[in-house]
Amino acid sequence: MLTKTINTVIAGLVLLSGFAIAEDVHVNNDIIPLEISNNAVLLRERALLDDLSVDIVESLTTEVGPRRVGTEGDKRAIAWAQAKFKELGFDRVWTEEVPIEHGWIRGDANAEIVSPYPHNVVMTALGYSVGTNGDLVGELADFPTLEDLEAVPEGDSLKGKIAYVSYSMADYVPQPGEPRMAGYGKGTQARSRGHVVAAKRGADAVIIRSVGTDSNRYAHTGSGYGYEDGVRKIPAAAISPPDAILIQNMMKRGEPVVLKMNMTSKITGPVRGANVIGEITGRSGSDDYLVLGAHLDSWDEGTGAIDDGAGIGSMMAAAAMIGQMEQRPNRSIRVLLFAAEEIGLVGVRAYYEEHKDELDNHILGAEVDGGGGRAHTLISGVGETSLPIVREMHKLVAPLGIEWSDANDATGASDMSVLGRAGMPALNFMQNSNDYFMYHHTPNDTFDKIIPEDMRLITAAYATVFYVAAEMEIDFRK
Ligand code: ZN
Ligand code: ZN
Repeated sequence: MLTKTINTVIAGLVLLSGFAIAEDVHVNNDIIPLEISNNAVLLRERALLDDLSVDIVESLTTEVGPRRVGTEGDKRAIAWAQAKFKELGFDRVWTEEVPIEHGWIRGDANAEIVSPYPHNVVMTALGYSVGTNGDLVGELADFPTLEDLEAVPEGDSLKGKIAYVSYSMADYVPQPGEPRMAGYGKGTQARSRGHVVAAKRGADAVIIRSVGTDSNRYAHTGSGYGYEDGVRKIPAAAISPPDAILIQNMMKRGEPVVLKMNMTSKITGPVRGANVIGEITGRSGSDDYLVLGAHLDSWDEGTGAIDDGAGIGSMMAAAAMIGQMEQRPNRSIRVLLFAAEEIGLVGVRAYYEEHKDELDNHILGAEVDGGGGRAHTLISGVGETSLPIVREMHKLVAPLGIEWSDANDATGASDMSVLGRAGMPALNFMQNSNDYFMYHHTPNDTFDKIIPEDMRLITAAYATVFYVAAEMEIDFRK
């Protein structure tokens, strides 16, 4: 249907007059009807001019700030999210409680090298670490990676020592075929299990080089949630990248490096978080819905702007903009703000337990949890029959400079991966995350790191494809 294709192109040109983007949509209107593709272009252009996503992050980081699960900040975030959904026109807003086995008090974390050369060291406790119960002094036993520490036979060979995993994400060179940020996953191994592995070898504590790509004198916290039954609970902490280099330089000199650390962190009794859900109810009356996700909790060092304020802002804004179209969407759109992602996807697991019988109603899902960086590639995880439709949807965002990935193996980022692996079809825009790993989980994760232009772009991208998905009667499983 050549005429219809031309119509969409012309509509695009008219809408874009005055914009610098060269529009060339060429959507096959036998696949995506003309009215839907025209509306999608209109929505995309509106979203590119709208700072709603940025305003949401500003509101969250200013009015709430740090919101680690179970804290007063988290309680304020839960109230904030409900009020914001209502303000943005979501017609159903509710919370689902998420019980958490333990709370945690961060306390203070101080460290210094006592020999061979005295220096102060910037250190932060890893989440849910025990404290040191006064000063803890020990020689550092250096392990380049967690595997090297695991290679030490279990027993007490590290008795009186502090195990130190010096792995540097910044220096990791991805293997051919590995994503650029593959070094993050390797870094998180020591962050999440180092305390158990080191304790089984007799160490008194474990410290890691911060998992990040920066050279700031800040340490990156992160999850160390969960000690193993029957294994001694030892303190776990991260040191800043420059201090890791300082320690490396001392070690080169061949003398033992002795560290003194003092942490007053403490594990407490049970706490409660909540998933907060906002829905724009579709006009069709169907039980199916699309889901856009982000996590509501954050670490407590910064204000959680890029992790995951950017996800909250872009997903809330994308859905709200679809809801503000002339006609409400055909299918419902739910925004899921998950509790307790940072301590191991706890909120989404509770959501799954509650909703697993309705998993088939989750037609398509996506999550932003990689900051607000520029979207560059659309990747799908849908059935073979619906793949050509998603390829047409991509044409609507291609003018934003977004490429297409043929992989079709997306399972949904972060929390959504739990639903994606259980069978929910997923879409994701891959983003530039270079800045993300410089700031996330540090005091530097603050609102000023949000780049409005990139936030408008990621919001426009999700609004466009989810608008089309909401309008069309597609089973993305097929
Ligand atoms: Zn996150
Ligand atoms: Zn995080």
